[in-house]
Amino acid sequence: MADLQNLIERNRQFADQYEGNLSIIPRFSTMVFTCVDARIDPAHFLGLGLGDALVFRNAGARVTNDVELELGILWTLASRLSGGALPSLALAIIQHTDCGYERLANPELQQALSRNLGVDKAEFGALANADHPETIRKDIERLHRSPLVPNELVVSGHLYNVTDGLLQEVVAPAPLQSGT
Ligand SMILES: [Zn+2]
Repeated sequence: MADLQNLIERNRQFADQYEGNLSIIPRFSTMVFTCVDARIDPAHFLGLGLGDALVFRNAGARVTNDVELELGILWTLASRLSGGALPSLALAIIQHTDCGYERLANPELQQALSRNLGVDKAEFGALANADHPETIRKDIERLHRSPLVPNELVVSGHLYNVTDGLLQEVVAPAPLQSGT
């Protein structure tokens, strides 16, 4: 509760300085998809301000069914907001070093999670990102195959280093239709 009170107090301070009337259309056409890790907020390491970019996050920054669906929805919304034109959206997938999901590659942890959650342990192995370049490439390939994600979407892959704060390119930006 003390944490929540603290957060609510921070919000009051934020609202005191807040200037509204931001456009629903972000300044940048590049969307950021990254992990929920508390060390890697894109507002900090990419310098994003309010209204700059669409940001979505999940644990591990792995492409799941939900991510595919969200991308399909966002693409359609973007098209409608621009009067039916083809959106010029791009997606930057950003995994990071020392990610909690690297640990999902551990068979003992997979076994424990399977017991606790009643989910097949293979599911956890598939979500592991111990080999970041490999899983980023796999996820881009998955987007390429997805019927929900438009092939015009430009996608790139990156690895953020939690030690030095630097972003490294793993996969150069390219439209999904160009194949990976
Ligand atoms: Zn992570």
